[in-house]
Amino acid sequence: MTYDAIVIGLGAMGSAAAAHVARRGASVVGLEQFHAVHALGSSHGKSRIIRQAYYEDPAYVPLVLRAYELWRELETVTGATLLQRTGGIMVGTAEGELVRGSLRSAREHGLEHELLDAAELRKRFPATTPRAEEVGVFERPAGILFPEECVRAHLLAASAAGADLRFETPVTCWQRTAGGGVRVDTAAGDTIEARSAVVCGGAWLAKLVPGLRVSLRVERNVMHWFAPRSHPELLGADRLPIFMLQRAEQPLFYGFPNIRGQGVKAAFHHSGEYSEPHLLRREVGDAEIETARTALSAWLPDAAGSHVDSVACMYTLTPDEHFLIGVLADHPQVVIAGGFSGHGFKFSSVVGEIAADLALQGSTRHRIDRFALRRFA
Ligand SMILES: Cc1cc2nc3c(=O)[nH]c(=O)nc-3n(C[C@H](O)[C@H](O)[C@H](O)COP(=O)(O)OP(=O)(O)OC[C@H]3O[C@@H](n4cnc5c(N)ncnc54)[C@H](O)[C@@H]3O)c2cc1C
Repeated sequence: MTYDAIVIGLGAMGSAAAAHVARRGASVVGLEQFHAVHALGSSHGKSRIIRQAYYEDPAYVPLVLRAYELWRELETVTGATLLQRTGGIMVGTAEGELVRGSLRSAREHGLEHELLDAAELRKRFPATTPRAEEVGVFERPAGILFPEECVRAHLLAASAAGADLRFETPVTCWQRTAGGGVRVDTAAGDTIEARSAVVCGGAWLAKLVPGLRVSLRVERNVMHWFAPRSHPELLGADRLPIFMLQRAEQPLFYGFPNIRGQGVKAAFHHSGEYSEPHLLRREVGDAEIETARTALSAWLPDAAGSHVDSVACMYTLTPDEHFLIGVLADHPQVVIAGGFSGHGFKFSSVVGEIAADLALQGSTRHRIDRFALRRFA
């Protein structure tokens, strides 16, 4: 049988791509090297931020607005709770990239937002301790996605629409067929053919597509959870939004309120520790836990109680930290969705839609020129 599409990698992006292809009535096989919803890639760790006033670039805003619609649609289709709105605050000095960029996106796209000074921040969110010179951009629609539930929901939607999903099935190589399609070999010895392929390999992308000609780096980043030290009533999602904090003495720091009794989660956006997926240092040392606790303590003193857990995860960084979405110049039947640079999860629903457009129609109505592979040619 020749499928309409093969999806390689069934993490955040691949599960969404498989669901979108299958829901359009096309035949799709999805191949994943590990089991479903595993914790060895980039899509584990209980929570991901979703926000609209995108400081990184206003080009992301239309995509994130569509992503919200698709997350709600997926909740309806599967009955799962995937997105919890908590509001979000982006805090730093008025001149800093986080505040300026968030305001720029909010203004360019007419997004609902408020600019709060330090006193207003303290009043609205009493657990926070902003410095006198800090301000915050507050956006009400921001919130939390539950990544494991999201991936599971996309896999469920894909299977329900007829997708053939195969786990514990590493892809060893792929090539173009004489007929202009794609042939994929698996470690199990199977050969599968399709008219198109969608490669969503996450941190393994460079290995899967040796001819990519983009230098990708895999960065180890750790998520930490702490139990409240005092005033737990100020740390729940009704009193504390998700936050991002830019301070000169540390990398961008972000976190989540205490939801589902997990404790407050906090992490740095970059670590500067680069690795390979199979060599990733998964154990977390005391010193890095204490560094995170110190940053948390300076912003949310009530939250920096006993350590609950720390988990390592991987970013796949492109040179400019913007995504890679498009087809390969010399293999237009091969769609690449990768290099999400530590901020892709919120978009996975819309990336699935775009990947299905490109695989089945060769084009998409979404503006994806910002993410073109050719910018690194
Ligand atoms: C600590 C941390 C915090 C983050 N916080 C946020 C956030 O708050 N908001 C946000 O929007 N984003 C966030 N991100 C980024 C986001 O989680 C990622 O961009 C996103 O999950 C990447 O999805 P993916 O599908 O590319 O990768 P993955 O979900 O890792 O999927 C890739 C899949 O490909 C499979 N695969 C690879 N090679 C093969 C092969 N040869 N054969 C078969 N299968 C293969 C892998 O096993 C894996 O399942 C965060 C990331 C990390 C690490």
